[in-house]
Amino acid sequence: MKALTFKQGIHPSYNKELTKDKPLKNAKRPEEVLIPIKQHIGAPLDLLVKKGDQVDLGQKIADSESFVCAPIHASVSGKVKEIRKVTDPGGNTVDAVVIEASAEEDEKLVSNLEKHQNLDNLSPDDIRKIVREAGIVGLGGAMFPSHVKLAVPEDKNVEYVILNGAECEPYLTVDHRVMVERPNAIVFGLKALMKAVNAEKGLIGIEDNKMEAVESMQDAVADETNIEVKLVETKYPQGGEKMLIEALLEREVPVGGLPLDIEVVVNNTSTAAAVADAIREGKPLIERSISITGRGIESPCNLIFRIGTKLADLVEQAGGLKENAAKVIAGGPMMGAAQKNLDVPAVKGTSGLLVMLADEVEDFDPDPCINCAKCVDHCPMYLMPTTLIKYAKNNMVEKLEEYQILNCIECGSCSYVCPSKIPLVHYLRLGKSQAMAKRREEK
Ligand code: SF4
Ligand code: SF4
Repeated sequence: MKALTFKQGIHPSYNKELTKDKPLKNAKRPEEVLIPIKQHIGAPLDLLVKKGDQVDLGQKIADSESFVCAPIHASVSGKVKEIRKVTDPGGNTVDAVVIEASAEEDEKLVSNLEKHQNLDNLSPDDIRKIVREAGIVGLGGAMFPSHVKLAVPEDKNVEYVILNGAECEPYLTVDHRVMVERPNAIVFGLKALMKAVNAEKGLIGIEDNKMEAVESMQDAVADETNIEVKLVETKYPQGGEKMLIEALLEREVPVGGLPLDIEVVVNNTSTAAAVADAIREGKPLIERSISITGRGIESPCNLIFRIGTKLADLVEQAGGLKENAAKVIAGGPMMGAAQKNLDVPAVKGTSGLLVMLADEVEDFDPDPCINCAKCVDHCPMYLMPTTLIKYAKNNMVEKLEEYQILNCIECGSCSYVCPSKIPLVHYLRLGKSQAMAKRREEK
């Protein structure tokens, strides 16, 4: 099978061998969880519980009437100890429900979702409702509410649902493990997603450094006439929605547009498995898998954790930090966020925890730009990072818009290749926030 790909991109060290053969294991049930009540892109939620309430596993604890949101459920049974502000792994201060876990023996999943072993009696609308009620968001890290992606306007048609199994971020191996261990759940979820948007065909794109996952998924689709597994080249950011579509279909998402504009909907493979769990087991999104990895952790592993578990608890279960551990990142090295402390809850979008040693963490002062154009040559969105950061530093918002700053996917490829070690992504984020602020003002 030929590996397909997109133009540009980079080849960082992937370092997947630390955890790629480590099967998913259930993390220990935490004694306390801190569950932020905003774990999605969209409208804030209203609290449905208060201090002192007893809650069941799977009980909805926050929701909203808004369309673009995803409800939150209790990930342990127990007592609401308090509602307080916490910092999430992205550095945002958010309200969180703190639940003190009850004795484990009493724990039963309580859910208002009915169980369906097949899709025959479910309409597209039923599937969208289940996905919404289960609080499912994109598990690749974007945390966009999944039911919103499935709401196709009447004037649009969807030809393909693509499942993203590229997992191009270095170090991370959770999608890989889910594809190896739960291929049938992924295929069931994909069929549900296809039915929800009335798509004719399904594709599963997997990078060619995950051949075990490729074989596992190929076996699972052997009897499916309208679903294919496709090999994509191991290249960063192959898992970006637009890059994956370009590789698989040679279609280009229009500037400022969505995959829907070219008759495509993209979801992550682990998201598809979560959709299957919601439909077949009535299970809301109360847990997910994470790679705890890097040279700075004693026993790298892949765990399934309850949403709201503290990073410190997960680190402990991976044997703890090594003595000379210097940096902890939630997510991968390219797009993850450095953590100041570990009393932060792991959330729906936390797919990795990377611990680096002192000799891996560069301490440098950037040099001036030498106009080498490497950042331009590698940008998968064909942007001009070096020009954009000049405009961002000078708050020249019209120029930022003219040079398409909002198309930047913050993949970090430009920073990675820059010989002067200029923190380009930092300035690009600043530029994006300036352009977004202008848009909000105009509205
Ligand atoms: S400009 Fe944005 S999209 Fe282009 S390489 Fe840099 S971070 Fe990635
Ligand atoms: S890669 Fe770095 S040094 Fe080269 S043009 Fe871009 S910003 Fe300047």
